[in-house]
Amino acid sequence: MSILSRILSDLVSLVAPRTCPLCGRMLHGQEVICSLCETMAPLTQLWLDEENPMHQRFWGLMPVERAVALLWYVEGSEWQDVVHRFKYGGQWRIAYNLGRWWGAILREQAIFEDVDMILPVPLHWRRRLSRGYNQSEELALGMAEELGLPVRSGLVRRTRYNTSQTSQSYSERWDNVEGIFSVSKAKELEGKHILLVDDVFTTGATIISLGCEILRVVPSARLSVATLCCSRNAISKG
Ligand SMILES: [Zn+2]
Repeated sequence: MSILSRILSDLVSLVAPRTCPLCGRMLHGQEVICSLCETMAPLTQLWLDEENPMHQRFWGLMPVERAVALLWYVEGSEWQDVVHRFKYGGQWRIAYNLGRWWGAILREQAIFEDVDMILPVPLHWRRRLSRGYNQSEELALGMAEELGLPVRSGLVRRTRYNTSQTSQSYSERWDNVEGIFSVSKAKELEGKHILLVDDVFTTGATIISLGCEILRVVPSARLSVATLCCSRNAISKG
């Protein structure tokens, strides 16, 4: 997102009424989704259990302190539509706003109090350029606002421009993300507890590829994972 288009969007949002990204109702005050949609949201509650099913997906693949998601992701649901709009539809502000909601819950739960920084899963520069923003970074910025943490997007780069994973099988996704990240500023990650942030957790292939590369270069780093959504299918797969 260029600075100019962000300023323009901010100006538009000053005059246009703010609406709920799910149902379109008018929002009041600091709300980012309306109170009805908030009540109906499929919250995972994964943050209540340290060894939750999402955390278990990392066992034997990558050490993580905590792994949590805000919402269950169900194919064909209204939340899938919301994710598509901020991921492919240019509506980066939805990601930022949902990040604030997620960040406020995590602050209340106090499970990331010793985290030093948030690191959103990077996009390849070509994809970031064509999309205009990185939706995971927008999510991270919203979360950081509530958690009072820095977002350090520039410390890791995505070095391979790979194809979209949405149409790929389970094993293809793992092949597709091997060795696609590169740590550019290892010193700044030494001894730090890093919260990796992404939009949707499905197989975990991307975030595990990112985390393993960080731990290979910076063994003293500690990792946690927070995504906006978690696919119920991915968790139930043996
Ligand atoms: Zn609503």
